[in-house]
This record gives sequence, C-alpha cells and structure tokens, in this order.
Amino acid sequence: MMRPLRRRIGVIKHEDVRAQTAAGLAPHPVGDYVRVIPVGGCEEIGRNMVAFETKNDIVIVDMGLQFPEEDMPGIDYIIPNISYFIGKEKKIRGIIITHCHYDHIGGIPHLVHRLGNPVLFGSDLTLGIIKKRQQDFSTAPLRTQVITNQSQLTLGAFRADFFAVSHSVPGSLGVVLDMGLGPLVHPGDFKMDPDPHSLTPADMDKIKALGDRNVLCLLADSTNAPLPGRQLTEGEIQTNIEEIVANAPGRLIIGTFSSLLSRIQQVIWAAEKVNKRILIEGYSMKANVEIAKELGYLKMKRTTLISSKELPHMPAEKLVILCTGAQGEDNAVLMRIANREHRYLRVEKGDTVVFSSSVIPGNERSVQRLKDGLYREGAEVIHYQMMDIHAGGHAKQEDLKDFYRMVKPRYFIPVHGNHSFLKINKKLALEVGIPEERTFVPDNGAVIEFTAKGGRMTGEKIPTDYVFVDGLGVGDVSEIVLRDRQIMAADGMLVLIATIDGRTGRLVHNPDIISRGFVYLKESKSLIEDVRMRVRRILQDRDPNQPANEVYLKEKIRNEIGQFIFQRTERRPMILPVIIEV
Ligand SMILES: [Zn+2]
Ligand SMILES: [Zn+2]
Repeated sequence: MMRPLRRRIGVIKHEDVRAQTAAGLAPHPVGDYVRVIPVGGCEEIGRNMVAFETKNDIVIVDMGLQFPEEDMPGIDYIIPNISYFIGKEKKIRGIIITHCHYDHIGGIPHLVHRLGNPVLFGSDLTLGIIKKRQQDFSTAPLRTQVITNQSQLTLGAFRADFFAVSHSVPGSLGVVLDMGLGPLVHPGDFKMDPDPHSLTPADMDKIKALGDRNVLCLLADSTNAPLPGRQLTEGEIQTNIEEIVANAPGRLIIGTFSSLLSRIQQVIWAAEKVNKRILIEGYSMKANVEIAKELGYLKMKRTTLISSKELPHMPAEKLVILCTGAQGEDNAVLMRIANREHRYLRVEKGDTVVFSSSVIPGNERSVQRLKDGLYREGAEVIHYQMMDIHAGGHAKQEDLKDFYRMVKPRYFIPVHGNHSFLKINKKLALEVGIPEERTFVPDNGAVIEFTAKGGRMTGEKIPTDYVFVDGLGVGDVSEIVLRDRQIMAADGMLVLIATIDGRTGRLVHNPDIISRGFVYLKESKSLIEDVRMRVRRILQDRDPNQPANEVYLKEKIRNEIGQFIFQRTERRPMILPVIIEV
C-alpha cells in the first residue's frame, strides 16, 4: 500500500505562506529590536541556518544541508528555504559559518549567490573546505574573510566576536552577536573539552566570561540533549582508536566521513604509534586532508601516508585504509569495496572493518547486508560510533547544563535537532534555573523578537518548505515530482498507448499496455485484457461528431482505469495514457 504523504510535502506553496505571513505580520516595535529566525535545523538534524535581523541589517549563521528521508527517492539533499530573504539582499551583512560540516556549509553553493553574494566568515579550515567544495559548482567566486577566536567584526548594527568550541572537527567557532540589547550567543555544534592539549580545545575562559556579559539569549545545539551524562573527551576517543588500530591483526579498513577531521587525525596518530601506514581513499577525504594539512590542522610524519602504488608492497598488518563510508557522501568507498566495485581494493580474509554504527541512518537492513557481505569475505566488523558525524562531537546533558550555568543567558532557544530533542534541551535549561517563560522552542521559520522590554515568540512564520537538490538541479524537483516518485516506488506504473485516426478519432489498433513495477504482464493476462477492453470502450464511446479531445480522453482513461485497477488489486500504480494520432 502507498504510504501516506508527509504533510509538509505538496501542501504548502510559497505564495500561500507569503500571504499568510503578510496577513499575520506583527507591526515592528518602536525602538531597537532584533529578530532571531531559525530558518532550518529545528525540526530535523541538518540544513542548519539561523538569521539575526534588525531594522536595517541581517547576519546569517550557517547554511547547511539535510540528507533526504527515506520517502524522498532520488533526492540528493535538502537545503534551507531562503524565500524570506529575497528582496532583503541589501540588508545581509555577512554569513558566519561555525564549522565545516555539511549540515552547516552544504547549502552555500546553491544559495549564497541568490542572496547577493555576501561575505562568508569562518576559520581558515572552514573556508578552505567550503572553497574546495565550491569547485564542484560552476558559480562566480565566493567572497570570504578568515576569522579566528580573536576576531571582532562590525556587521551593520551587529558587533561580532568569537570563541573556540570543541567539536569533532578543528576550527569550530562559537559566535557572539550584539546589536545593543545584549549578546546573542550561538555556539554552533559544540561539546565541552577542557583539556588544553585536545585537538580542539574550547576557550573555557571566554565561555566563562560570557557569564559576566549579561547574555540576552543563548541558542544551543540539541543533537545530544537526549543523552544523559557527559560526552567523551577527544582524549578518551583517542585511547579507543589507539586500541582498535593496535589490535587489528591484519589490514584495518576504517569507513568514516570525509569532514570528520579530528577522527582522521586520531587514526593517523594511532597508526604512527604502532608503526602502521595509512592509505587514504576517496576524493573528498583526500582533498580535505590536503587542506587541513596545509593549514596545520593535521599533523603527521612525512612517511605516514602511502599512495595506492605502494599498496602491493605493504604487509597487511602494517596497513590502515581510511576511506569514506557513509551514505550521503559522494562515492562512499567502503560500500564499493564491500560490493567488489572498487578498482583495486577488495576485502580480504583477516581484514578488520570499522564503521560508524549508523552508516545508513534508519536503514538497518542495508547495513546488515553490508555486514554480511564483509563477513562472507572473511572480515571482522567493528562498530565504533565515534566514526559517525554526530557522535562524540556534541555536548550531552551534564555538559549542556554546565555550559548554561557558565553563560547565564536571560533567554534560551534550543536549536539543531528534531522537535523532541529541542524540548528535552529546554528541560535542561529549566533545570539550571532559566524560567520557562524565557525559553522558546521554535519550529523552522519561527520568529523570536527581542526588544528592551524582553523577548517573545511573534507567531510569525517565514517560509520553510523543502528545497530539494536533485543532481545539479535546485528546486526544479517539486513536491509533485517527488509524489510521482513515491507512487511509482510504491505501486509501479502502467502505460496505456492508444493509436487513433486523427480525422475520425477511431482506434487504429488494439491499445498497447506496458507495465513496470506493477504486475508481471504474463501472469496477469486477464487483468490486462480487462484494462485493454476498458480503454477501447472509453475511446469508442465518445461522440464521433466531436473532434477527439486528447486532454479530455487522457484524463478519462486515467480516472476510469485507475479506479478499475484499484477495485481489482487495491493498488494505485501511476497511469500514463499516451494517445498517438496517425
Ligand atoms: Zn558539526
Ligand atoms: Zn551540526
């Protein structure tokens, strides 16, 4: 049976949203105000983007992508909806990118030029990876400016400063924006790692000092808010990785995300400790490692990395292969190795394969099949969750509460996560004493407004319906296309071809029927014959004195045959009538 369509698909049109918004628009308050608008990332993990807007200025933080859900066949990813900003391009003073993960940078190539190409601010590593990715898209050059945790910027009415946060990638920065009503703090993805020797130490002093700045509002990462306790430190993760690398008896194949640079560094250090060498496989991972190495974020001995040419001379027990291995990333190498589709890498007996426990989110059966395949080839499989993009890099409950106690915000907005994550995160804020009426749990597109009198949810909602990226196209796959794909995926399709005489409208020969994914024609002869008979009757029944109206006839065939098939089979294949006039 066809799955019910999710409500957000195909129901809301841009125009409708605009009309609603205009009708329900609250008048702007007298005096200074700042509006906080989470454009994406508040009903899902992904497509993170928050806008901060005053009378004359807009600053955007992050512009990410979201990987599609299972009922979105053929969609590569989803990006934030920027309709609200069209016509306001001149107000945009800059886009600050907190770090280089795709759920924070992935929308840039598709959106930044449509916003008037504002300057992108980010750490050198963040911008390096954004620029590298931009080469895959033929657009005008980006305007970028490197910032560090010491930078201070003036962006229209906003003063911006930054603090380093600990995350699973170096170069992650938290953002402080102030337009006069008090600092708005957006740490991006973060965890608490006080160890100054960590790969990504947090600026603990700066974070504590925020507590004395009378912070107006804190936006906080909810990714790991449902998890009790504390997140592992990078040091603890290093120990775990060292164990895995040292204990692999033969080759070790590690599938991970190409932007998970802290893990890549840790694998490199672990390998060097036991004199193993590393082959990096996968275009995006190689590129990211190159950039990070050049900028000094990745440290390694000159001899640690080997090329594929050296591969035949490497003893198995001395080799670590680091590759991309997660769904959603271009050409996941691990999948190709497991499926024997890789050019020169095969799984061999004695290999140990490591992958993040959620290689294909929500698709356990494929993971199981992959695992079975690897075992069949004689490999051992280890799940290590920290190889996942969202594991290990985000603060858990106790860390979050510590952070809130340090920052002491007057208002609190949980972001980055599904609605339930946001609600749980809000509870944590209540536990540290932030009053309930000063917490706002937003949906995407909610507008939260602050004035000298305080903050409130305005009830206004900007457009947030999905923008799909499909191949190189953006937004050209509409909800209708997606619905067609869903129908075809669920019940298949049936093509009914009728050839008629252009003058008389009479059928020239028996209608042809083609079925894909619906029924096997040979085994459903009587059903197909009944369909054929009905198509014939529809075409014969029309008034012979009227010219054949193709649109009308097609519609009639689609409706009547659709109904007939549903009665007989309880399926709703897509029906495509084709009328050829000769
Ligand atoms: Zn991240
Ligand atoms: Zn994120």
